[in-house]
Amino acid sequence: MPSFNAELTQLGQNLTENAGNWCHWCRLQFKAEELEEHKVKAHNVCTRCQRAFSRRPALIRHKETVHGTRKGFGCDVCNHRFKRKDALIRHKRLRHHIETGGMQS
Ligand SMILES: [Zn+2]
Ligand SMILES: [Zn+2]
Ligand SMILES: [Zn+2]
Repeated sequence: MPSFNAELTQLGQNLTENAGNWCHWCRLQFKAEELEEHKVKAHNVCTRCQRAFSRRPALIRHKETVHGTRKGFGCDVCNHRFKRKDALIRHKRLRHHIETGGMQS
């Protein structure tokens, strides 16, 4: 069989435990919507491909290069996309309680 089996096994482990909304990195349990946030905040996990990064900038660069999120303004917590930067800033404040600088443009 082809050699992508090893990769699949790794991914499969993560996915099969998904039923209980476990964080696979710290083994804590969350509600579905909180888990996504937690994974991003605590482990810099890409919500599209479930890869974890040691640093936030690495995750951001990954999303830009691999998933092409450079256009518009994307929420790095839930991946929601906005045409306007102020909409994103407001979204992050209201939705995730994240203050994204006061940059008015
Ligand atoms: Zn965790
Ligand atoms: Zn990704
Ligand atoms: Zn968001």
